[in-house]
Amino acid sequence: MVTFRYLEGKPVALVSCKECGQQISDQASSCPRCGYTKPAATGKLLLSRKAQRVNGSRIVVDIYIDGLLQGHLRVGEQLEYDMLEGDYQLVFSPGPLNPDVVCTARIRANQTEQFHLEMGMLGLKVS
Ligand SMILES: [Zn+2]
Repeated sequence: MVTFRYLEGKPVALVSCKECGQQISDQASSCPRCGYTKPAATGKLLLSRKAQRVNGSRIVVDIYIDGLLQGHLRVGEQLEYDMLEGDYQLVFSPGPLNPDVVCTARIRANQTEQFHLEMGMLGLKVS
């Protein structure tokens, strides 16, 4: 059963500790009573790039997650990341001649957040 109470104006969901049954916040990473540590929740980030024949298809898109270069995406390729739950800033950088595209990825437990990339006449399109 999940109950709610208000803490600093924000609703907090209370869940039962798996080990001792104590009611704890669903935001807590461990139980204050028995010390049980909840395994970190992970979701998937899926980035794909459609195959296309028009100009721009040779451009390699650099992928930055929270400011760190994590990979490169070429036409027809797909990248998959396992990530901890949370919000991440994604920057897709298609080289110096095209503007970067900035998005927010909301990673939720056991869910897949998807972005499709496509180079068009006006630069990189992300959907
Ligand atoms: Zn406990």
